[in-house]
Amino acid sequence: MSEEEVEARREARRRKRHKQDNIIDLEPKANENIPRVQIPSKGIRKKFSPDVRKLLYIHAGGRCELCGREMALEDVTIDHIKPLAMGGTNDVSNLACTCFGCNHLKGSAVPESFFQRVNDIFMFQMEKKYKKNVWWKLVRVILGKIS
Ligand SMILES: [Zn+2]
Repeated sequence: MSEEEVEARREARRRKRHKQDNIIDLEPKANENIPRVQIPSKGIRKKFSPDVRKLLYIHAGGRCELCGREMALEDVTIDHIKPLAMGGTNDVSNLACTCFGCNHLKGSAVPESFFQRVNDIFMFQMEKKYKKNVWWKLVRVILGKIS
């Protein structure tokens, strides 16, 4: 078995364990030697160095790039904008700094599908709750005009 195959199997086991534990972001262990250079992936989830995490955090202005919530650097999870499962890479241009809740909710959806789903949920819930409210009726008209 080649070294690549061994690493791929190890990664598959690690991903399975994390899935069972419901952990999305793989935190680097302190004693591991993490490469500083981003290597294009072949769909394998990699660990991101503290430098990459900090860079993404600063770029995002310390906020989740999906919901806008302010968060601490240690609470950041790294989201693949285009999911690895859909051919996305581990390149920093494909990474976003997100809160755990959003990353978990987004799962392996592309941003467009995710935002459409959030929008559908919002509209459905508002409609259910405020169907007879005149302000909501007005908001619905305005939203209809801009979309
Ligand atoms: Zn968020």
